Amino acid sequence: MVDEQAAFNRSSMDQFHNYAAKADEEDELKGFRDYFLLPTQNGREKIYFLGNSLGLQPKTTSEKISSVLQQWHELGVEGFFKGNKPWLDLHSSLAEKLAPIVGALPSEITVMNQLTVNLHLMLVSFYKPIGRRRKILCESKAFPSDQYMLQTHLSFRGFDPEDIIAEVTPADPESNISTGDILTAIEKYGDELALVFIGGINYYSGQLFDMQAITTRAHKAGALCGFDLAHAAGNVFLDLHKWDVDFACWCSYKYLNAGPGAIAGAFIHERYHRDQNISRFGGWWGYPSDDRFIMKKEFVAAESAEGWQLSTPSILLYACHEAALEIFAEAGMAKILSKGLALSSFLLRIIDEINKRRINTIKILTPRETNQRGCQVSISIPGIGKKVFDHLTAQGIFADWREPDVIRVAPVPLYNSFTEVARFGEALEEAIVEVSGDRL
Ligand SMILES: *Cc1c(COP(=O)(O)O)cnc(C)c1O
Repeated sequence: MVDEQAAFNRSSMDQFHNYAAKADEEDELKGFRDYFLLPTQNGREKIYFLGNSLGLQPKTTSEKISSVLQQWHELGVEGFFKGNKPWLDLHSSLAEKLAPIVGALPSEITVMNQLTVNLHLMLVSFYKPIGRRRKILCESKAFPSDQYMLQTHLSFRGFDPEDIIAEVTPADPESNISTGDILTAIEKYGDELALVFIGGINYYSGQLFDMQAITTRAHKAGALCGFDLAHAAGNVFLDLHKWDVDFACWCSYKYLNAGPGAIAGAFIHERYHRDQNISRFGGWWGYPSDDRFIMKKEFVAAESAEGWQLSTPSILLYACHEAALEIFAEAGMAKILSKGLALSSFLLRIIDEINKRRINTIKILTPRETNQRGCQVSISIPGIGKKVFDHLTAQGIFADWREPDVIRVAPVPLYNSFTEVARFGEALEEAIVEVSGDRL
């Protein structure tokens, strides 16, 4: 007997593949895949949808590292000042390339340390409790490191974290926190709020918040406003300077491809740069660079985001960061952002189609609105999610599993293709069929 349903299903998957082939053909960024080293499984390139966890390695990274090693070999400590790329100049070259990615002036960016460390440093400067204004508003179920950072930072400063941390929860417990929920909470706490601190994109759901609206409302309430941009930098449109954000921090190993444990970035709005009285943890690398080596006794801060630096940076990590940022500069943020959205929109369309045929097996956690997401789509498949996930992994299709039952799928614009998204969709349906004993 001819299975008509199977034939119908087959034909709609074929349509997706046709669409994907055409979209890849027209993709202005298609050549960029070749700039990266793709992991393989059984001799085939993996479908790697994990750029939200650890972005892939640019082919130029090892050359950049080698040239630092070479300079160290040839010049020793003079490498800081001499050679075709003196190490002291590298920071400004990184900040310039990051500026269009986060929407900041280069002087508002510093490349230093790692994300959680930088969040502590930002809180030293931007958590300024005064009288009854002492609360920090953050999202419930923030990334664990952010929660631990807040708890331990507050305890260190003599506060009871429970007293200080106010969490925004979703109005509808079944759904995500909305920007509206955050704005309402800001109103509610009003003059008790010292700081609003939110993940610009929620790492779990992939939901993007309206950072401009949140910043404006926080300022109106008399609070400062900062963001964790771990899942936003390189993935969604950011305009931190214009939005008037006070500070922001991000890591560079997710969408920014700077490698495991990469050197991170921080944004500090220029209105703070000349404030020598702002509290901060200082170090000699925060001293104005022209006079840094005069070694004076009193600390003076450089009048830029560099004033928040402490230590001699790892030039090797700078090199990794630079390799990837050159690719971003060549591709241009506008194209990167629009392809990221096109990939996730395509993925959503395929999932919708699977749901039509399989009575809503897949729950989509990421908002559909293109101003509320980047390239990540988070799904859950109640009851069989883990088995489906394992099935995909065994076939060389890599997404990310998060307990209790979420699969995060991030096709990224620089090295993923529409065809990979179509192949993912097809494999996803096959895995559901296989695991649930349904039929194609
Ligand atoms: C990835 C991520 C981190 C990781 O912090 P590190 O200090 O880089 O290890 C922190 N916060 C959020 C929201 C993240 O997504």
